[in-house]
Amino acid sequence: MGARVISFHYTLTDPDGNQLDSSQGSDPLSFLEGGGQIIPGLEQALGKLESGTKTQVQVAAKDAYGEHNAENVIEVPRDKLPAEEVKVGDQFRAGEDARSPVVTVTAVSDQSVTLDGNHPLAGVDLTFDVEITAEIRDATDEEISHGHAHGPGGHHH
Ligand code: ZN
Repeated sequence: MGARVISFHYTLTDPDGNQLDSSQGSDPLSFLEGGGQIIPGLEQALGKLESGTKTQVQVAAKDAYGEHNAENVIEVPRDKLPAEEVKVGDQFRAGEDARSPVVTVTAVSDQSVTLDGNHPLAGVDLTFDVEITAEIRDATDEEISHGHAHGPGGHHH
């Protein structure tokens, strides 16, 4: 069986019911099965649904952005940071590279700054209200070789 491209609308909420993200009002999101384009727990759940299904999917933190790992929290001397003004909640890349992890400032003192390299949603159980759009289609050879879906809601080159 070849890989498929599945398109869906979603609204993401955290355990307190706060809406974190939604595709409503824009194109549904398209992903290539097995491409690792979306979080594993959601991909697994969506792969079992039929076209047109509207349902709610619960994804535990470990199957979403992972558990919060205390080893990814580091304290660095204030003068090691390039930025002059630093406040709690600031986010920046830990390196020059666009693929460097994003870190979040979680504490600031006169001498040091605490940086959390975990994804902001690490340790958070997520709820997705999803609707699979009408068409689930077979992936093209090009999509399979690129490892992602093309077209509306997918990658544009
Ligand atoms: Zn491509």
